[in-house]
Amino acid sequence: MIHELPELPYALNELEPSISQKTLEFHYGKHHQAYVTNLNNLIKGTAFEKAGLEEIVRHSEGGIFNNGAQVYNHTFYFMALSPNGGGEPKGALANAITETFGSFAAFKEEFSKAGATLFGSGWVWLVADSHNKLRIMKKNNAGNPITDGMTPILTMDVWEHAYYLDTQNARPKYIENFWNLVNWKVIEERYDEL
Ligand code: MN
Repeated sequence: MIHELPELPYALNELEPSISQKTLEFHYGKHHQAYVTNLNNLIKGTAFEKAGLEEIVRHSEGGIFNNGAQVYNHTFYFMALSPNGGGEPKGALANAITETFGSFAAFKEEFSKAGATLFGSGWVWLVADSHNKLRIMKKNNAGNPITDGMTPILTMDVWEHAYYLDTQNARPKYIENFWNLVNWKVIEERYDEL
């Protein structure tokens, strides 16, 4: 199948001031697009030519995995941001977060710390295990928790390209801004579908 860059549910300037239009022009318009283009070129003539994205993440390796997982991860990240995001989750997800981490504030602190301490490029994930129990995972480079048998619920990109134009070396400042944009409605729906 031909993989495509998803349309975003917001304009590129609408996440300002938390994430600038300039960052989205590069991060979405150049980086995300490049992973899509590379993936489509790499799968030609291979066993993954007709595979869906999740199958590629599960079973491929090397360049096909790296680009396929980066397409998956960026789509998962961008689709859960909103100009009207922030605040706290409600319902079953809120209860599960409190049960697992003690409070929403404690979860936020642990997730933020995972992002700040991930060495090099990668992603921080809130995932559910096979018993629907929540946990936070750090994955390097294009890493995706599907390969560990987990179901992803929320992700935060901590590659430098996600924040360098806005906050330069200050990854913690980007992480602080990220919380202003999380669309909990999307995250709640992902959790409810488990
Ligand atoms: Mn990225």
